[in-house]
Amino acid sequence: MTTETPKKKAVLFCTCSGACPSMTKIDFWKLAERVRLELGDQIEFMALHPRLCEPDGERFMANTVKDGILFITPACKEMKQQKLLRDGFEKSGVPMDDAHWKPISMAMLDTDTVFEKIKAAVEGRAEETTA
Ligand code: SF4
Repeated sequence: MTTETPKKKAVLFCTCSGACPSMTKIDFWKLAERVRLELGDQIEFMALHPRLCEPDGERFMANTVKDGILFITPACKEMKQQKLLRDGFEKSGVPMDDAHWKPISMAMLDTDTVFEKIKAAVEGRAEETTA
């Protein structure tokens, strides 16, 4: 795995249609606004998509994911993302390695806990314990 991390970062949320039973404690609009206000000057951009693992989500990734940026992806569990985001990364032409991808699991967490995990990833700190 690559250890060199690009300096630039972006946050790419997958909201699982906003209907995933494991994400009912997350207020995505509140979360996105906190990221914008508190971390916005440390990232290139942030985006939310309802289903990155569907064909339209993969097309979105093909148009959005770029080399030279670490993509922090708050979504389902990391192991699941490894499988479900693979085609999107492949279509973007960007390797799904440590330099370009930092998955964050939002499963069973609340808005504040997810925000702290995103903040730690943006600041390059060790990841908080996954619930
Ligand atoms: S990538 Fe994960 S969070 Fe996103 S829609 Fe698919 S299962 Fe849900």
